[in-house]
Amino acid sequence: MPGSPGIFIMYYLIIFIFGAVFGSFFNVCISRIPNKKSVVFPDSSCPFCKTHIKPYHNIPIVSYILLRGKCAYCGAKINIHYFLVELLTPVLLMLLFASQNAQFSIVFFKYAIFISFGLIIFFIDLYHYIIPDKLSLPLIVIGLIFSFLPNTDIGWMSAGIGALSGFLLFLFTALIFQKVTGKDSLGGGDIKLIAAIGAFLGIEGTLFTVLFSSLIALTVLIILKHDRKKHFPFGPFLIVGALVYILAGDTLIQLYLRLFDLY
Ligand SMILES: [Zn+2]
Repeated sequence: MPGSPGIFIMYYLIIFIFGAVFGSFFNVCISRIPNKKSVVFPDSSCPFCKTHIKPYHNIPIVSYILLRGKCAYCGAKINIHYFLVELLTPVLLMLLFASQNAQFSIVFFKYAIFISFGLIIFFIDLYHYIIPDKLSLPLIVIGLIFSFLPNTDIGWMSAGIGALSGFLLFLFTALIFQKVTGKDSLGGGDIKLIAAIGAFLGIEGTLFTVLFSSLIALTVLIILKHDRKKHFPFGPFLIVGALVYILAGDTLIQLYLRLFDLY
């Protein structure tokens, strides 16, 4: 791999800055898409006192720390997701870049898109218990398009089977659960999200994501002693499962196989 260490530090720095700026935009999406507001011309004003936010109060990561998570004018608390997304976007993109041997490959851009949509879906589902179609449906299409490109990691066959099997698995699980208990388990949003994950990760990645996210969801349900009558969003767990597979799937599967002496 050509290039001096200086170049690599610069690559990571560029990814960090772009990531933080994109993260700032993702926050606009998280706040506005569930309210059916435009994300193209967001007026950045405090949701409480409506004061227009000055550009120097709008610097990703930095402003949140300097203002200690409060509006500079009225002191209202700014939701923590603003900080988390501005920080998580660049960090996840840098980890992705490292996992792609520090190359701006097709696969890097493919998963950069998935991470972007994933972060937005994670917080919208967490707060509102919905996964908007305008996010999940384009994600299915983008995943399938990437499967036809050269030098991609998941071919169209695996992507197609992944999307379809994820979709059918969740659809049948939801229908059976509905029949048996009379309650909804997986929503329509989850079913479209797993289809998108299938299109990006292929059949193996989809299986991994379903197993892994079910395990952590179950653990969280037990730890939080979650009230069964209350709604429990599954989308965030699917996103975490998919991200773990994208960034560390190979390592984890190797570890698992070695642990149980399976090869
Ligand atoms: Zn304010």
